Amino acid sequence: MSTIHQSSGVNGSGANGLLGSDAVLRVTPMTFFPTCPTCKRKRPQSGFSVYTLRKLLELGLPIDGYCLECDHLWPISKLDRISLAKSLSSPRG
Ligand SMILES: [Zn+2]
Repeated sequence: MSTIHQSSGVNGSGANGLLGSDAVLRVTPMTFFPTCPTCKRKRPQSGFSVYTLRKLLELGLPIDGYCLECDHLWPISKLDRISLAKSLSSPRG
């Protein structure tokens, strides 16, 4: 079985009339709290924008967390990805 999966939904023409909100999302930082695998503490990460995080989640790409105390960089766990996805999809306000 070979399934060719092409993402065809993304067009950058801006025809959806929501240019403003999309542009805001691209730069709005999203703080999330993955657990450091070394010290087992939740570490705030604020280096990604909402837009970037959504893309990384959609594409299944690794999202890195960083712990200052351990000086450790790690890809966040599946559980952390799920809770991040939930907080991204929750309505604003
Ligand atoms: Zn740590």
